[in-house]
Amino acid sequence: MTTHHHTTTGAAPSCDVLIVGAGPVGQVAALLLAQRGLQVIVLERWEQPYPLPRAVALAHDNVRVLHTLGLGARLTSLLGDGDEIAMAEL
Ligand SMILES: Cc1cc2nc3c(=O)[nH]c(=O)nc-3n(C[C@H](O)[C@H](O)[C@H](O)COP(=O)(O)OP(=O)(O)OC[C@H]3O[C@@H](n4cnc5c(N)ncnc54)[C@H](O)[C@@H]3O)c2cc1C
Repeated sequence: MTTHHHTTTGAAPSCDVLIVGAGPVGQVAALLLAQRGLQVIVLERWEQPYPLPRAVALAHDNVRVLHTLGLGARLTSLLGDGDEIAMAEL
């Protein structure tokens, strides 16, 4: 995802959807909306992502959503071949 930093000077950016919070829900929502042609801005209070892992299990539905977003290869490179992944049927 491309990120833009806006200052308080100059024209305010416009968008179709403003999402507050770049956690997994905000980021996935932003990507799904952008895929449908909407202009989305995500506001996050922290400059860097939370540095520690927060996922030990992935629901199949979540994996499918990430593949839909074109992130399947990235997911595979992050997770390896799957031997150590707990896939939860939730
Ligand atoms: C140790 C740990 C392990 C976990 N393991 C798993 C797991 O194995 N599997 C699993 O499915 N889930 C796991 N979870 C839960 C998972 O992390 C959460 O369900 C998920 O992060 C929720 O996503 P979210 O986007 O709703 O909220 P968050 O991840 O909390 O993101 C919200 C974001 O909004 C930002 N924000 C909040 N208020 C403002 C504001 N006013 N202005 C700007 N930004 C703001 C925050 O900084 C944050 O970045 C784990 C959680 C923890 C803590």
